[in-house]
Amino acid sequence: MSLGRRVVLAAGAGGFLAGCAASSDPGERPRGPSSRPGSATVRTPPPAPPSSASAPPGPAPRATRVATVARYGRMTPVSWGFTAPGVVTELPPAAGRAIALTFDACGGPGGGGYDRELIDLLRARKVPATLFLNARWTDANRARFDQLMSDPLFEIANHGTRHRPLSVSGRSAYGIAGTRDAGEVFDEVAGNRDKLTALLGHPPRFFRSGTAYCDDVAARIVAELGERFAGFSVNADAGATFTPAQVHRAALTATAGSIVIGHMNHPAGGTAEGMARALPALLASGHRFVRLSDVVH
Ligand SMILES: [Zn+2]
Repeated sequence: MSLGRRVVLAAGAGGFLAGCAASSDPGERPRGPSSRPGSATVRTPPPAPPSSASAPPGPAPRATRVATVARYGRMTPVSWGFTAPGVVTELPPAAGRAIALTFDACGGPGGGGYDRELIDLLRARKVPATLFLNARWTDANRARFDQLMSDPLFEIANHGTRHRPLSVSGRSAYGIAGTRDAGEVFDEVAGNRDKLTALLGHPPRFFRSGTAYCDDVAARIVAELGERFAGFSVNADAGATFTPAQVHRAALTATAGSIVIGHMNHPAGGTAEGMARALPALLASGHRFVRLSDVVH
């Protein structure tokens, strides 16, 4: 099943296709035409975008902010959406019947909550997951962070410094302003990467932008900074706006190789209850759950 088909299925369960747009500042909640279900398009750019032609040949220089701006600052993106070259949206075939659950914690006003029921569910069922933490969430939840990072069930990943859609040209998604240029892309990725590196003792391997939107040039910058951009193929909670029944239905569309996105920062949402209904069925059908680093190399 194609990514587009899967996303359409998830969208059909209701709500919008924000990776996490509704989970930060209520003032940043999706609005306008782009927030309607199905209106956010997954655009796959051509394999050889024109912007790449302007990339200097040879190995990348050391990925400082100055070097990043020098290398990517004049490039023009050709795509904007949930995927771009280099964005991982499904697990490799070698992962077999594995499914990767990923949960974002977006931080900021209204987005700093902790879904204890969801985390307890994963622990009770020994279901591993990858947790994408924004710097603001970590700052507001240091004790929680320490518990999560020390739990081998969970992999900690980078959900950005200020929770911005990742753009080199100032595009926005769901009413959330994106980064404005290559320098701000660097800040968004490297700021939280450095924070997590100090806390974890090693850099996070995976990055997902606020709202999960990116353009193709920004995705290249993520790779140059040493991280894999993690997209998704099943949207389980639509920015934590789904009811438990909707989460249940959306999660059950996951199959071998799926990367499922949900949220762990809205305890009043339907994510935990919906996942509690879906996990037994997914396990009974022979699936297993992995952290992204377990199978994406
Ligand atoms: Zn988010």
